[in-house]
Amino acid sequence: MSDKRIKIAIQKSGRLTEHSTSLLQKCGLIFSHAKDQLIGYGENMPFDLMFVRDDDIPDLVQDNLCQLGIVGLNVAMEKQIGLEDAKKACAYSIEQTLDFGQCLLAFAYPEDSGYSAIEQLEGKTIATSYPFIVSKYIDEKKLNIKITEFSGAVEVAPSLGKAEAICDLVSSGATLKAHNLTQGETILDSTAVVIQSNNSLGDKEQLWVSKLLERINGVLQVRESKYIMMHAPKDSIHTITELLPGTESPTIIPLEGTSEIVAVHVVCKETIFWETLEDLKSIGASSILVVPVEKMLM
Ligand code: ATP
Ligand code: ZN
Repeated sequence: MSDKRIKIAIQKSGRLTEHSTSLLQKCGLIFSHAKDQLIGYGENMPFDLMFVRDDDIPDLVQDNLCQLGIVGLNVAMEKQIGLEDAKKACAYSIEQTLDFGQCLLAFAYPEDSGYSAIEQLEGKTIATSYPFIVSKYIDEKKLNIKITEFSGAVEVAPSLGKAEAICDLVSSGATLKAHNLTQGETILDSTAVVIQSNNSLGDKEQLWVSKLLERINGVLQVRESKYIMMHAPKDSIHTITELLPGTESPTIIPLEGTSEIVAVHVVCKETIFWETLEDLKSIGASSILVVPVEKMLM
């Protein structure tokens, strides 16, 4: 890299776009991006964004044209298995699982077909946009099933007579239902992930990448985290930490005029439900405050 800037490939326009840009902004990256431009220039850090089709992201990182990418695990794995199949080395690794882009890669069978399990498809054909992931799964099960590749609208394949079943991404199941398909086995639980090129970076660039990954991790933790303050009997601290999932040692602060009651402050890394607050109250806690955490660096 002659210009020493680090390129991050993200989806130009689709389900991952807004989440990806907002994640990077939460990490402190300010970038300028004119509409319809391929590149967004980082103004305060040496990162530039490349806005591309999600399917191109693994290739860009594989070829080190971009050093990082945010893409669905489904797309990252399809490319990875494709490379394995072609006996080529995969030159990127999955660095971080993100909390958006959740979907399943699952089989689906026509409602009136009588099929409900992949084993019943021996000798038949499955339509999918993920031929490598699906054939790996089928090979592992030692089944003999043909695969026909569809680049979009996979769900119409059975009614066109192109396949007996499909394997496609599902999030709500509504699309399957609209095409009279029943959801079957899940073969991949997918979310967006950060991928990084295995090509080594200069020391400075590697420091920036590590810093960004650490900030991403911080942003993910903060989304669920809460700072909780309460007054509680001194001897109930142990029960309190047991009730609050994902907490580290609480801070205990003495209160003026009493030795039995203390103030307890704790960071809790998981969602707090009303039930938990009620349980805290039932063991003697009072003045319970739950406040959002703005930033966190562990
Ligand atoms: P592009 O124009 O970039 O090729 P696309 O149509 O392939 O866009 P999108 O539909 O925007 O892609 O989906 C991008 C990613 O979002 C998917 O690869 C997947 O990881 C994730 N995703 C989450 N939910 C769904 C869903 N219900 N259907 C499809 N993808 C989903
Ligand atoms: Zn795509």
